[in-house]
Amino acid sequence: MPQYVYRFSEGSKEQKDLLGGKGANLAEMTKIGLPVPPGFTITTEACRAYMRDGHVPPELRVELTMALREIEDAMGRRLGDFHDPLLVSVRSGAKFSMPGMMETVLNVGLNDASVKGLAEFSGDERFAWDSYRRLIQMFGKTVLGVDGDLFAHALDAKKAEAGAETDVDLGAEDLKDLVETFKGIVREQCGREFPQHPREQLDMAVEAVFDSWNTERARLYRRRERIPNDLGTAVNIVTMVFGNLGETSGTGVAFTRDPSTGHSGVYGDYLPNAQGEDVVAGIRNTLPLAELERLDATSYRELLQAMRRLETHYRDLCDIEFTIERGKLWLLQTRVGKRTAAAAFRVATQLVDEHLITMDEAIGRCTGAQLNQLLFPQFDAAAERTLLTKAMAASPGAAVGEIVLDNAQALARTAAGADVILVRRETNPDDLQGMIVAAGVLTARGGKTSHAAVVARGMGKCAVVGAEELDVDRAGEQVRINGTVLRPGDVIALDGSTGEVFRGAVPVSDSPVMRYIAEGLDAGLAAAQDEATRELVHAVDRILTHADEVRRMAVRANADTAEDAHRARERGAQGIGLCRTEHQFLGERRTYVERVVLAEDDAERDAALADLLPLQRQDFTELLSAMDGLPTTIRLIDPPLHEFLPDLTDLSVRVALAEARGEVDERDVALLAAVRRMHEANPMLGLRGVRLGLKVPGLFALQIRAVAEAMVARRRDGGDPRPEIMVPLVGSVRELQIVREEAEEILAEVGRDAGMTLDVPIGCMVELPRAALTAHRIAEEADFFSFGTNDLTQTTWGFSRDDVEGAFFADYLENGVLTISPFETLDADGVGALVVAGVTGGRATKPEMHMGVCGEHGGDPESIHFFHGAGLDYVSCSPFRVPIARLEAGRAAVMAGEDSTA
Ligand code: ADP
Ligand code: MG
Ligand code: MG
Repeated sequence: MPQYVYRFSEGSKEQKDLLGGKGANLAEMTKIGLPVPPGFTITTEACRAYMRDGHVPPELRVELTMALREIEDAMGRRLGDFHDPLLVSVRSGAKFSMPGMMETVLNVGLNDASVKGLAEFSGDERFAWDSYRRLIQMFGKTVLGVDGDLFAHALDAKKAEAGAETDVDLGAEDLKDLVETFKGIVREQCGREFPQHPREQLDMAVEAVFDSWNTERARLYRRRERIPNDLGTAVNIVTMVFGNLGETSGTGVAFTRDPSTGHSGVYGDYLPNAQGEDVVAGIRNTLPLAELERLDATSYRELLQAMRRLETHYRDLCDIEFTIERGKLWLLQTRVGKRTAAAAFRVATQLVDEHLITMDEAIGRCTGAQLNQLLFPQFDAAAERTLLTKAMAASPGAAVGEIVLDNAQALARTAAGADVILVRRETNPDDLQGMIVAAGVLTARGGKTSHAAVVARGMGKCAVVGAEELDVDRAGEQVRINGTVLRPGDVIALDGSTGEVFRGAVPVSDSPVMRYIAEGLDAGLAAAQDEATRELVHAVDRILTHADEVRRMAVRANADTAEDAHRARERGAQGIGLCRTEHQFLGERRTYVERVVLAEDDAERDAALADLLPLQRQDFTELLSAMDGLPTTIRLIDPPLHEFLPDLTDLSVRVALAEARGEVDERDVALLAAVRRMHEANPMLGLRGVRLGLKVPGLFALQIRAVAEAMVARRRDGGDPRPEIMVPLVGSVRELQIVREEAEEILAEVGRDAGMTLDVPIGCMVELPRAALTAHRIAEEADFFSFGTNDLTQTTWGFSRDDVEGAFFADYLENGVLTISPFETLDADGVGALVVAGVTGGRATKPEMHMGVCGEHGGDPESIHFFHGAGLDYVSCSPFRVPIARLEAGRAAVMAGEDSTA
């Protein structure tokens, strides 16, 4: 039989699952002797039983009666008694805080009789009636479902009638009237009287808190925050203490240290003669907490002591809610305080310096996502700006530029030296060129997983998407936002961290943290404009250095060119995990591939390939020189052949028009025949990767020879080249074996000619379910594995990314099939299981086999923790994400074994 009710004296902060965050922390504070009003917590398990059965479990009623009796006995008061009544608050509190989602009812137990008892006990009639009207108002709204405005309007009317400026100016008689009015509203709206029986009030309030878990609002919030729907909420029943008993009472909120700098000090707000939410509701102006010293020095000192106690106990910045009732301090809530990204780093290192936590714990408290936010250029906060609209912040950063509406405009304006912002209704793969040159991307449609969002994040480019008020009139060459008409050439500014869009230029400053990462500590410190920022740079340096020391996984970068490779190295990459060679065949070099495909015989094809050789050798020599001394994984050509050939429709039209004119271009005709022959219904699953390599003789051989010759060239120049050859899209060990045999021959031959031994590891991508499932066989021919989790996700789900993201991902996120795009965070249950199978299989054959991941997931924090757990040796991600991966790999190492959701 589960225990549904826990006294505060029974629980602890570790029991957030069962008691919710608020309940667990109330119990913890009680345990360490801080002044918490007596109370108890109804467990999340009771809530789950309620949701399952449709009614409150009968045992709960019994346990609740017993727990309530204990409080009543301890206090010597009875709930809702007509003489000196006990009153309680009924407070929701789930495992994860869901601000503003669920409600709290104060003053439960007041009725027509006990209001008099409260007046008598407090000697303050005004206070008693004010508490009663608050109960009817809160209870009416949150438990009985009455429209809150009806009460608010009645309150305003009463104030007007009494000539009262604020609530406090209403007298006891006014409030008595108001109670009658409020009761009338309840009668009218619910067809019943306001419940007078205290226990009925309590039971109804508990059920209302349970019900609030499943409101539309709460469900929507959870979906966005990826909080599971089946956790349920706990309910806390807490003896009421009163901050509204005159000038010696009050209520407030406080932080145990400055939430932005991390420095210790007194931070908070205090409101004399007020109850509960008056502080945050902004009804009256609050006082800075330090003023409390003047008002009530004893309580103030006691509060500071309690805050120190909490901080040393939780060993973190805490925020608290407190109330002072006639000079007696009560703590009503605490939790580890939320903080900005910059504060996370500062607070963590401050706590280390104060010997409260270790460096291991410090890196546990600074996330890659927070580091990411610190890397982007930012708008100067002080600058003036005109807001046009606010939409979804899809990819962080700050971008200023001229509006362009398509690729052609984007290319033309950037060629002329302008910064541009690509503004589209939505983007698709055709817009890639424009996105590459643009400083930022703005779309009218699409969400966080839309093409624009995903691609921009991949490129580390600022993007704001789904701007509903934006109307892109392509034909009319203009865009309209909230009545403002803008044309190509007009300047706008995007804040990818907030989703704001501004008119005109807003001054942007480089991130000093980014300067530090790219150029070292001195440069970062020099770029910082104030002491707080210098402290931040120091803090990031300490955290990142420690992460580098403790992490097991190496961090490599995905880089295709020497330029990318330099950038990756600057940011701390320890090698290249993926060089996509297909990029070296596109652009002007496309015609060479055409020639290979069109070749009528071996000689013709060999000639075409021979022309490519020096170009490839040059590419690899540059890359290996940039990555001197570090492993450089070069992937043999991968994409479908059609990407190198002209578009079927374009070419058909060209040939048809030429024929109509009677002029036939033999080359075009041959090309068309080849394109027709190669045409695939689903290129993603067609002739690509190793399949293409086996089908077109000489193609892989050319690349392998180029790698070998580049290696020789680098060695002759005194370099230390460390290439690794990677075969894509392998599904069967035999595929790899064929390529391997050929590669070994070429390496031996080039080596022999140069008088050197060329040791080049040969491995493969694991990106097909079959490869993962037969990894033990494939390992026989592979020196290493690299999990290509993008394709592995596509082939495991049977999704073609470009097709599904725009088509139905939004629906899938909406209806909860997906909680996040599996292309962003690894689908641990499905794709992750295949990764584990691949690791296990590979190491069964070769226990020491080196393994990494080179999908975009290599830069995603949650996925990195998964890869650490799976036993991979490295992650490889885009150069921009390297610092994030370094931090997260360090965090994964120190947090492994702990509950990573804690
Ligand atoms: P939230 O989760 O929205 O902060 P809370 O349950 O903390 O809601 O309660 C809302 C307000 O009522 C807070 O200001 C809290 O301090 C106050 N409050 C809650 N319980 C009591 C109580 N027993 N006595 C006095 N004030 C209370
Ligand atoms: Mg609270
Ligand atoms: Mg792939």
